Amino acid sequence: MPVVVHEMPLLECREIGKQFGGVMALEEVNFDLQPGEVHGLVGCNGAGKSTLMKILAGAYPDHDGQILIDGKTVRLLSPLDARQCGVAMVYQELSGIGALSVAENLFLGRQLTTTLGRIDWQTMQQQARDYLREMDIDIDVRRRLDRFPLVIRQMVEIARGLHSGARILILDEPTSALSPPETRRLFDLIRRMKRSGVAVIFISHFLEDVLEICDRVTILKDGRLVETSPSSELTKADVIGKMLGRTAGSEHDPEFDAVVALPSRTSVAPVFRVNSLTRKGQFQDINFEVSPGECVGLYGFVGAGHQELAHSVAGALPTDSGSVQLDDRSLPSDDVAIAVRCGVVLVAADRAKTLVRRSSIARNATLAHLRRTLGEWLSRKREEAVVQPLLEQVGCRPARPNLLAGNLSGGNQQKVVLAKWLLGPIRVLVLEEPTRGMDVGAKDEVMRLVANLKKGGAAVVLASTEPELLLAHADRILVFQRGQIAHEFAGVEVRKADLLRWA
Ligand code: ADP
Ligand code: MG
Repeated sequence: MPVVVHEMPLLECREIGKQFGGVMALEEVNFDLQPGEVHGLVGCNGAGKSTLMKILAGAYPDHDGQILIDGKTVRLLSPLDARQCGVAMVYQELSGIGALSVAENLFLGRQLTTTLGRIDWQTMQQQARDYLREMDIDIDVRRRLDRFPLVIRQMVEIARGLHSGARILILDEPTSALSPPETRRLFDLIRRMKRSGVAVIFISHFLEDVLEICDRVTILKDGRLVETSPSSELTKADVIGKMLGRTAGSEHDPEFDAVVALPSRTSVAPVFRVNSLTRKGQFQDINFEVSPGECVGLYGFVGAGHQELAHSVAGALPTDSGSVQLDDRSLPSDDVAIAVRCGVVLVAADRAKTLVRRSSIARNATLAHLRRTLGEWLSRKREEAVVQPLLEQVGCRPARPNLLAGNLSGGNQQKVVLAKWLLGPIRVLVLEEPTRGMDVGAKDEVMRLVANLKKGGAAVVLASTEPELLLAHADRILVFQRGQIAHEFAGVEVRKADLLRWA
């Protein structure tokens, strides 16, 4: 598809910069958008994509550089400014209100009133129906928004942006949670908007999607512009190479070339087996085994299904079919208590869910083992005495069992979560993004604990969206794509680019 470069872009960003407390999140980034263009924005985690979009959405008024819309300099000092300039952002976490009807959502903040000053439901419903129909979305607008599948909610949010006059629509990871037919539907809508002259900025890790729907692609790396090119001149491998930094002159970028040799497959018999496990819409027919002392990595982007799978194998999320076996026993689906009793434990990314923030560290650590400590659990002193050495063992700082868990830093909270499992015999440790949001030091310490548990004979399942974490800690790596295992790396040399290529 040829890109028509107009004399005057709809949007132009010149030398955009943004610092967070001395850290350069964006540096001298140039970016432009033509009317009716779909423009992809890609880059590894931390490349600066969200920061650039938040600047356009008016969230960071203190940025450097200049923004022009229709050739005129604009200052986007607030979300309201951005909206008045015709910029609408559809966040990954949709902002529509589930308990309100579709029509009410479409008119959120701009309700129509009758001449008597009452809210004019009838006209709003009629207009909402007509408007959505124009976009080929034929639904009952009186129904609650949360009764509809994600793709419809997303489309209603897009419609809301357009209905309020947006000419620039920012979609942040819109397809990550959609099934292939839903993605097609969203793409049809994007093409329709394009024809009406609306420009779309499309952020996604799914490079096939980006190359299919976008006219041009801009690649960011470490807050800097790598390049902007027509999609027709790029392949997935090109984009990955540029995201990771194999640009002209830096063929030997150490990060890009880092090779990890995975060990040959263990001869120890597996203890944990996942057989044809399926959770509709998230993962299908997943099979793998883990041996004691082995760490199996599950890699994929958000929405690839591996994170939900981690929850399901630990009994924390129901499945539709298939089984999970420990030794030769099947574990019941959706029963965390039995899984824990059998020694299958989950450390989820959302630590807030695993920790009782308003209880003491000691109570948090012993919570999973109430039966064992029942005789003594009323004695706080005893509880603290049991937990004290564990906190020292995991390097929790401060190692004071009587502190409230919620007052610890993220890294130390995670250590408490791990400490709690040290109390009981652990057979299978399932980790989902165990180091998210931690500094390098805390990451190392947490992963050292995991390595110790593995050495002690635990079978480890490590689900993550970070290639570096898996390359550093997994013995085998299964790459997930849209709910399925696209590739298994075992006993071979593997690079970050290999993982991205299969994801
Ligand atoms: P991306 O969306 O491409 O993953 P981001 O724009 O979120 O990247 O982040 C770019 C860089 O800026 C990262 O190093 C990130 O840690 C940092 N950053 C982003 N938002 C903030 C913030 N609110 N405070 C401090 N640092 C931030
Ligand atoms: Mg982001």
